Amino acid sequence: MIPPIADRFVAGESPATALEHVRRLNEQNVKAIVNLLGEHYDDRDAVASDAAEYRHLVTDIAGSELAACISVKPSQLGLDLGEDVFRSELSDIVDTAAEHGVFVWVDMEDHTTTDATLEVFETVAREHDGGVGVCVQANLRRTRADVRRLADVPGKVRLVKGAYDPPADIAYTDSTRVDQEYRTLLEDAFERYDGGIAVGSHDPAMLEHAMALHDRYGTDFEIQMLMGVREDAQYDLADEYEVWQYVPYGERWKSYFYRRVTERTDNLRFALRAVLHS
Ligand code: FAD
Repeated sequence: MIPPIADRFVAGESPATALEHVRRLNEQNVKAIVNLLGEHYDDRDAVASDAAEYRHLVTDIAGSELAACISVKPSQLGLDLGEDVFRSELSDIVDTAAEHGVFVWVDMEDHTTTDATLEVFETVAREHDGGVGVCVQANLRRTRADVRRLADVPGKVRLVKGAYDPPADIAYTDSTRVDQEYRTLLEDAFERYDGGIAVGSHDPAMLEHAMALHDRYGTDFEIQMLMGVREDAQYDLADEYEVWQYVPYGERWKSYFYRRVTERTDNLRFALRAVLHS
């Protein structure tokens, strides 16, 4: 059982509790990106177990007719054991998901995994002619070139600022510079892509920029935010835009919750306030 405060950011420990959260979200017109918490497995059995759970999840989502997709982590699907392990597990999940009409996102982890993640994404996306999307990080200097290259790959691209701390020779470390880069990447994507852009940010300034670009170019996009962060804004935005909430669940919730709290002490303050007023 997930304790109060943490349960604001994590939708329980089982697929059933996660899907119950998704059902409530869908009632607010918000769709869900469901993620089973887990990363950096060096054990083949752990990889196989999470991959199997994702395949079940996809059939459960399709069977319950919920507006939901899934998001996986490369190191959860075996990237630390080898690129071929990750490719094979991702491809199997996307096969099952495609059969059931469920979309699959690939999260982006630290900078040492970017090449392998994009290569595997591109292979699987071309094999399946879409049905899969990948996350790219604005704080990496390489991302401008990646966003241009990905324009020709079927599937979607989620643009985020970046949750890791890459070394300064390959990354922008100043937050104002990262924001500036995020805007430029949005401009590139809205100009070049036919659609399939996901704006993964809680930042009102970035969202407003994306909305203005949508008005200028007509390119379709979706907004993605995390469970427990700016949820009222998510419901309001869903009146006019396609909004997806990233919904993590699973027994490995402690490190995820710790990351949310250390990333932004406001998260803890807002969560505490919600508990005290409930
Ligand atoms: P920040 O730059 O943190 O904040 C900018 C402004 O946004 C703030 O001034 C405030 O106005 C508003 N804001 C932000 N947080 C809050 C809050 N808690 N409460 C109220 N207002 C707030 N990173 C990865 O590296 N790889 C991934 O695969 C990945 N996937 C993601 C998927 C989704 C759906 C989302 C939303 C993020 C993901 N991230 C991922 C994390 C991302 O890289 C950022 O670390 C995170 O989103 C914080 O940046 P931001 O743009 O939301 O806002």
